[in-house]
Amino acid sequence: MRFEESERLKSIKPYLFAEIERIIDRKKEEGLDVISLGIGDPDIPTPQDVIDTLCMEANNPENHRYPSSYGLKIFKEAVAKFYYERFNVKLDPDKEIIPLMGSKEGIPVLSYTYINPGDYAITTDPSYIVYRVSTGFAGGKIFMLPLKKENNFLFDLNSISEDVVKKAKVLFFNYPNNPTSAVCDISFFEEVASFAFKNNIIVCHDNAYSDTYAGDTKPASFLNARRALDTGVEINSFSKTFNMTGWRIGYAVGNPEIVASMGKYKTNVDSGVFNAIQYAAAKAFDNYEKYVSYNNEIYNNRRITVKKALDSMGIDYYDSNATIYVWAEVPEGFTSESFSKMVLEKANVVVTPGNEFGKYGEGYFRISLTISDDRLEEALNRMINIL
Ligand SMILES: *Cc1c(COP(=O)(O)O)cnc(C)c1O
Repeated sequence: MRFEESERLKSIKPYLFAEIERIIDRKKEEGLDVISLGIGDPDIPTPQDVIDTLCMEANNPENHRYPSSYGLKIFKEAVAKFYYERFNVKLDPDKEIIPLMGSKEGIPVLSYTYINPGDYAITTDPSYIVYRVSTGFAGGKIFMLPLKKENNFLFDLNSISEDVVKKAKVLFFNYPNNPTSAVCDISFFEEVASFAFKNNIIVCHDNAYSDTYAGDTKPASFLNARRALDTGVEINSFSKTFNMTGWRIGYAVGNPEIVASMGKYKTNVDSGVFNAIQYAAAKAFDNYEKYVSYNNEIYNNRRITVKKALDSMGIDYYDSNATIYVWAEVPEGFTSESFSKMVLEKANVVVTPGNEFGKYGEGYFRISLTISDDRLEEALNRMINIL
């Protein structure tokens, strides 16, 4: 037997982090205590009433049957209420909301729903890798807009050639941004929406970090922009907002025609999200302000700790108060990868090399704030000692 991977799978570039992972494995075998500041996966538990709701609903045999790909009414009404209270966006629960198995799932779903071979998808560099991979799976080509420090990691739509604009079908973007932690305001969303409307491009805004921020300025929704509902969807998640990465639930909201087409695709590929999980997730919105402020206080203290430590190491970073990451510059003489390897070899601490997210991430590394305060401090002290 020969198991030949499909061309689409073979075309995925080897995972840059692989070598760092080999070093981690070796160190763990040697019994060394490796601390990871790599992945963004909240350490704070899921709210108890969400867990209690899951247990109760899991005991109801009615929930043991196939769910609908289009989602439970009670779930969609809870999302609509949240979008109205949090963003002042009015949504029709029946037509403008669909649950996803994590917001990540929405990216391949949208790609397969709209991208034909040869079409372009536009996204950013650096970015969450899934936008690129999903576009490739659907046979599309990718055009990447650089995110640069001098522009506060916002992109310039005027830099896209006429030819690419003509062939572009989808634009994927994300603010508050992973990995740079940059935020944008409504006027930027307005620019994107009017560009997309003029050029007939579907927008997919990824708002996974809408509720991880410090201070009084809450991140907006893409749907706050004029024309946004005419041109796109926003995907959002329970993963970071409610510490529910393992639960695999998120949603897409926005243009009813796009939402319906995503549902049409989903009915043919999966059969929706377990109803008990939809009931539990809906419950999370009941006390969302309490949970969000609880999480953000923890992240903010950790963010301050990280910034202070980086200051004392003489390392520059992008000064933002959003997301669960700090985006920092590698010291002189290092590349992203050589710096990450050096920190791992000498301090037994994992940081993510910025070039993991694209070539414009070169020269940076990302620290995640999703680790307990004492382990975070231990990791930072180790870094201070070797630098
Ligand atoms: C973490 C993250 C998500 C969340 O994905 P889920 O599938 O909802 O867990 C989505 N987009 C970005 C950019 C992320 O960093």
